[in-house]
Amino acid sequence: MANVRNKQGAYPSTAVLTRGFDPHLSVGSARPAVFRSSTYVFSTPEAAERAFAITSGRAKAEPGEVPELIYSRFNHPNAEILEDQIVPLEEGSEWAIAFNSGMAAIMTTLMALMRPGDTIVHTIPLYGGTQNLMHDLLEPFGIICKPVVAGRSAELDEAIRSTPNLKVVLIETPANPTMVMTDLKRATVIASQRPDKPVVIVDNTFLGPAFQHPMTLGADLVIYSATKYLGGFSDLLAGVVLGCDEALNKKIRGKRGLFGNILQPDECWILDGRLPTVSLRMNRQSKNAQRIAESLANRPEIRKVYYPTLFDDPEQIRIRLAQCDYPGAMIAVDLLGGKPAAFEFLRSLHLAHNAVSLGGMETLVCHPGTTTHSGNTPEELAIAGITPGLVRISVGVEDWRDLLHDLEQALEATARVSETASATS
Ligand SMILES: *Cc1c(COP(=O)(O)O)cnc(C)c1O
Repeated sequence: MANVRNKQGAYPSTAVLTRGFDPHLSVGSARPAVFRSSTYVFSTPEAAERAFAITSGRAKAEPGEVPELIYSRFNHPNAEILEDQIVPLEEGSEWAIAFNSGMAAIMTTLMALMRPGDTIVHTIPLYGGTQNLMHDLLEPFGIICKPVVAGRSAELDEAIRSTPNLKVVLIETPANPTMVMTDLKRATVIASQRPDKPVVIVDNTFLGPAFQHPMTLGADLVIYSATKYLGGFSDLLAGVVLGCDEALNKKIRGKRGLFGNILQPDECWILDGRLPTVSLRMNRQSKNAQRIAESLANRPEIRKVYYPTLFDDPEQIRIRLAQCDYPGAMIAVDLLGGKPAAFEFLRSLHLAHNAVSLGGMETLVCHPGTTTHSGNTPEELAIAGITPGLVRISVGVEDWRDLLHDLEQALEATARVSETASATS
């Protein structure tokens, strides 16, 4: 987590516990109450009129003025508490908007910023859902989507410089699942040189908020699938957008009110309770993952281990050192035995589960080629480095020695598959 004090003089791990919640508004309860009301009682008709004028953007709140709550599709106390408390975790942000999934956060943000005829430049590979959003919604809607392969910095520079009607640059770094990194500072500097400055959005789900701080590198918006590390227990779906430009806050919040995809009170309450431990959890997961990745690197069953401390490209090493505090807890392993070895590996795991998603306390392993990335064409898979033998591991908080043992015995099982294959061929 960023180690910088906020405006009130508190470090993030303090501010996340102390800001944005007044026990007196929850009858003295030390933890926030859950306010499940769909609608709120106005103190006067004038207060109702004023609240509608401010929420709809027709009037501006006076300094210190807090408009009354209206209706929970627009806003509710648990969303407000969550949004206030998450801000200190994202260095450089001043506001947050909570959504009922990461996809809802991405979709609402893009729909708030783009019109038919506009262009978005984005890195690939992207999260599968985001990729589908481009093909199934944005492109049919007349938005031009221009992909650039992650890691090709000069191509990204050129796309940001020369694309007409460029409204949004969307960067996912590290890329899923091979951890290829995009230089955020370089991209935001080039974007800021355009007179019609595009909005630079970073999907920070893999390394944030603990280890990567895009707003300090010039990003305009940071997006999370809070389903992953922020939620941390594989038991809720949520998304968050953070930023500092008030005009962007208003635009995106307005669309959320229209679409009705605000995070519900119970989920806000659960997610809020997870915030103080996100840095503790991610640190443990990253330490576990680093020990495991480095222990697996020279196994005979493996062609390559993809993990930030094992990068061999000097430019990738430079980016990692410049923009990531720690390497994180996602590992991809390319097995020599191809798809049969990958499937045997998944079948042979005893502790780790074969599941998609990531960021939970338990270790999850999946086969991207046939699951998360199965919507990609063969060319897209090849460009993204997603081979038939690739498995992705989201490392949890189990003892790393037990995990390593489990992965090693599953690797030994893959060797038997390859031997059987060569014996029968
Ligand atoms: C999971 C994920 C999403 C989508 O989030 P949901 O909460 O599943 O809607 C977006 N981006 C990345 C990088 C993800 O891992």
